[in-house]
Amino acid sequence: MPGPVHFDSAIGAEFLRYARLVAARGYIHNTLGNMAVRAPHPDHAHGVAYTKHAGVSLEEMGVENIVVTEIPTSRLLYGSRVTSIGHNLNREILRLRPDINAVIHVHDDASIAFFGAGYREVRVLSLDMPFILGKAPYYVAAHVDVEADVGPVKDFIQDTNLVVLVGHGLTSLGRTLSEAYHRLNSFTAEVRRNIEAEKLSAITGQAPAYRSRAEIETMHRHADAIINPTRAENVMQDMPGTTAPGAANSRHNDNE
Ligand SMILES: [Zn+2]
Repeated sequence: MPGPVHFDSAIGAEFLRYARLVAARGYIHNTLGNMAVRAPHPDHAHGVAYTKHAGVSLEEMGVENIVVTEIPTSRLLYGSRVTSIGHNLNREILRLRPDINAVIHVHDDASIAFFGAGYREVRVLSLDMPFILGKAPYYVAAHVDVEADVGPVKDFIQDTNLVVLVGHGLTSLGRTLSEAYHRLNSFTAEVRRNIEAEKLSAITGQAPAYRSRAEIETMHRHADAIINPTRAENVMQDMPGTTAPGAANSRHNDNE
């Protein structure tokens, strides 16, 4: 059996930096909410996972609260305090998505309120949510607990970069912690925009100008070219029949 792992202080410092950023945005109210970061390791095919142990919040934690576990199991490789049940889902995502190296899970107020009020999905008003997420959010019904039983995760996790646990919280996926953080922020921003647009629409009597499925799919296809450009111009013009973001936007101006 492989032995304990060396603790990489650079990963620890990055973990702590994002714990502070996530807390500063008001996502953290208690010990629930966590992150997991994969580091490659020669003895572990899936790498190892840096995470916060149970019983301390992301807001209050220090570098001494970071532990390292295996990815297929919750076995501790560094540190002695157990992880929370939420780490089961984070590990399963890292196991099933080798392209993903970081997961952030929080209980976002606006999202819990929005879905609690009966809205079934976040509609798209902006450019940034489809470009930053790259894939459609996936909604897990409130009665399904994918932290206690990760079995259903394999059926949907390849097709999304943000999981909505209705009545519970959000889990965002990224190639880096930064990418997972941006995806989380972009989703919660869109939830708040939906709430504002729905409230204003109730005053004006006009329906919000939500983007069409075709526009959203075009943006998903070009997400990487926009967010990680390899050239400065014409990044969306290499596919016939696609719409540039400015052109997509003009539809809404026509309505005014
Ligand atoms: Zn949770």
